[in-house]
Amino acid sequence: MTTKKKDIRALTKEQLRDFFVAQGDKAFRGNQVYEWLWSKGAHSFDGMTNLSKQTREQLETHFVINHIRVDQMQRSSDGTIKNAVRLHDGLVVESVLIPTPKRTTACVSSQVGCSLDCKFCATSRLKRMRNLNADEIYDQVIAIDNESRLYHNHPLSNIVFMGMGEPLMNYNNVIKAIDMITSKDGLAMSPKRITVSTSGVPKMIKKMADDQVRFNLAISLHSAIDEVRTHIMPFNKTFPLKDLKESLEYWYSKTERMITYEYVVWEGINDQQKDIDALAKFCSYVPCKVNLIEYNPIDDGEFQQASTQAIDNYINTLEKRGIVINVRRSRGKDIDAACGQLANKS
Ligand code: SAH
Repeated sequence: MTTKKKDIRALTKEQLRDFFVAQGDKAFRGNQVYEWLWSKGAHSFDGMTNLSKQTREQLETHFVINHIRVDQMQRSSDGTIKNAVRLHDGLVVESVLIPTPKRTTACVSSQVGCSLDCKFCATSRLKRMRNLNADEIYDQVIAIDNESRLYHNHPLSNIVFMGMGEPLMNYNNVIKAIDMITSKDGLAMSPKRITVSTSGVPKMIKKMADDQVRFNLAISLHSAIDEVRTHIMPFNKTFPLKDLKESLEYWYSKTERMITYEYVVWEGINDQQKDIDALAKFCSYVPCKVNLIEYNPIDDGEFQQASTQAIDNYINTLEKRGIVINVRRSRGKDIDAACGQLANKS
């Protein structure tokens, strides 16, 4: 029988230290290896040049380093870059670098495919195959950081969990990845520059509040009327708006952090005054702002971006009621890299 080698990045720093102690070596060795794995992003034990040959062989015997590979990189005319990322088991996810004059944002995936069934999102057509491990999420960020330095001459400034998958359905690994991204052993990035976007899993929103997380929370709302929301996001049937509302109130009571609602306006779906009024009411529950996202068409044309008039109605009504509302332009559309377009097409 062959024993399967363990993925070394599944170990905490403590566990690595313990490993070396158990091998009769110094615990400090664990710190050195940890630094190679995370801060330096080593892909092989051979490259860990401050370790003896014997130590490297010892690691080789017990562990593997499962790292991602950027299989294909596409560059959009607006500077957006989309990576097709191959995982150690051959599955593929996508991540995106979005450059704007003020910031460079990485949009990363949290799952292979998605178990939700939002009707307007290309990823929902892909079966959810598995959750990404923390290191697979972390590696996407590193790959984009490298590309940002190479093509835009500065490091990554922000991260959004708006790629493939529902981050709150892979909560532990997402948190582990964010811990590494924000830790001194990793990228030392401020959690204020990280946004987790969710369709809204009330139980997990409450858990995040209890865990006192320090990153930003965005909710893909799209409608504040149950009937409409269930039609476009069937998952809303299980987690209706009143549960979402309650979890957001809980979040705010614990964290005092403002929430962002992401919202697309579609013709004939949520472009009426009643839709706007419902949103304005929902916005009164906790301090928040609204990002109106441009719709990125996916193949079949069932959904269409609402008229400019409808969008203006949203802006006017919300602004009149003192609600902050921004209109977000999409980037990377020509390479299917915009919100909701990630579907491993290539
Ligand atoms: N599951 C998470 C993260 C992935 S979706 C979530 O639901 O938030 C990231 C964002 O893209 C969400 O706000 C989602 O509603 C939006 N989105 C999905 N499909 C889209 C499309 N075709 N056009 C514009 N935005 C879309």
